[in-house]
Amino acid sequence: MTSIFWFRRDLRVGDHPALNLALNDGPTLLVATADTLGSKFSEISEIRRNSLRASWRELSKSVDGKLAILENPNELVEVARKNSIAKVYASSAYDTNGIKELTAVAKDLQSQGIELVLGPGNYAVAPGAVRKGDGSAYRIYTPFFNEWVKHDFGSKIAIGNMQSVLPKVVSLFEPNLAEGNQTRAGEAFALETLHRFLSSRVDGYQENRNRADLGGTSHLSHALSHGEIHPRTILEVLPTGSGADVFRKEIAWREFYADVLFHNPTSLTDYLDPRYSEMQHDFDELVFSSWCRGETGYPMVDAGMRQLLKDGWMHNRVRMIVASFLVKDLHHEWQHGADWFERHLTDFDPASNSHGWQWTAGCGTDASPYYRVFNPVLQGLKFDPNGDYVRKYVPELRHLKDSSAHEPWNSSDGYSHGYPKQIVDHGEERQEALRRLERIKKS
Ligand code: FAD
Repeated sequence: MTSIFWFRRDLRVGDHPALNLALNDGPTLLVATADTLGSKFSEISEIRRNSLRASWRELSKSVDGKLAILENPNELVEVARKNSIAKVYASSAYDTNGIKELTAVAKDLQSQGIELVLGPGNYAVAPGAVRKGDGSAYRIYTPFFNEWVKHDFGSKIAIGNMQSVLPKVVSLFEPNLAEGNQTRAGEAFALETLHRFLSSRVDGYQENRNRADLGGTSHLSHALSHGEIHPRTILEVLPTGSGADVFRKEIAWREFYADVLFHNPTSLTDYLDPRYSEMQHDFDELVFSSWCRGETGYPMVDAGMRQLLKDGWMHNRVRMIVASFLVKDLHHEWQHGADWFERHLTDFDPASNSHGWQWTAGCGTDASPYYRVFNPVLQGLKFDPNGDYVRKYVPELRHLKDSSAHEPWNSSDGYSHGYPKQIVDHGEERQEALRRLERIKKS
């Protein structure tokens, strides 16, 4: 009997236990769906769409063009029905929308007499498996890490029997994956990125990872989020040393947030700490749009937001700075920012995004306390000391030398190239954020 393997967040063929289950079962059709990670393909930015196209293109190449891309899971059920499929195989999901999607598809398939079979997902330790002695889940990162690191991450497995793969039988939702697409992605690129990081950057990672101007991080987030690489493939080859130790901890943050979301599915969009839903928030279309476009008048915030629009990626430290600015300086709820990130981030990951936002907003797991309000100017001076990052993304500040790019208000020609004035006063808004915090503490 023929089966389908349904690619979701696992766009690779190597070290893929769930795919191998299907291939070992006999003739297999390979299918991916364009609506992915809970986001509709039609609603995400062109840069995120292009990065997905690049991922599918590479996956398709590695299976001799036999990958079919459908628009959504409903079409998958239809294809399964029309082709008398007995089983659909996929990797397990642990995030709120992923679980919902798999549950709905399993039900629809079942009504046609077709079984959905789930294999392991893309975590070194499956979310839900790291527990305290009393069986409860962790909400604080460090004890989670101490337990997580003791688990067996497993070993790489051989590539499955590709002879089982059948030619595609449906017309494609995205037929021309190459058109106008320069973005690099895919399994081979992920391995290349990993080896580049290990040979040149891992040693200084512990110091350089916070510097927005240095490019000292791995840039593996797209590959991890789309399963172009399995985390155990990374963990297996990490050397010893303080850079590698810190890097392992970052991989564990991804696993921690996946675990937290698994145990608290509503925290995808709701406050993990419900007290913060009582806080007074504002929403102003114009103000929000200035933040989205990178026109707040705060150079580090604007550089980050423009990096997101241009590259579909933002440095972690800058993600924290722009998130803190939206929530604590502009008093907008974190969900508005998380939605914007979801549309534009090519490495969008539901758990890391929602909990990265909640951590910064002060309402998440072992959160940076709400009263810690990032000063966007001091953060810029510290993590982009020569102003190179700001100049790269904000052309109106390119004429300002060194760190003066962070403080155009101190230069006589600071605004001569059209850079916008600050939309709010950080000092005043910090006080306002603290007043709002006091009010919910009292109530
Ligand atoms: P590296 O520093 O090289 O880290 C290696 C890997 O560890 C990353 O690829 C990532 O998988 C994981 N990792 C590192 N830092 C974190 C972290 N703080 N939380 C969770 N995992 C981490 N990451 C996403 O992958 N997708 C998101 O949608 C996302 N949204 C975020 C939103 C906010 C507001 C914040 C503050 C952080 C968010 N992050 C997200 C986490 C982090 O910013 C990115 O993982 C990181 O910048 C990716 O770059 P890198 O691969 O070079 O990271």
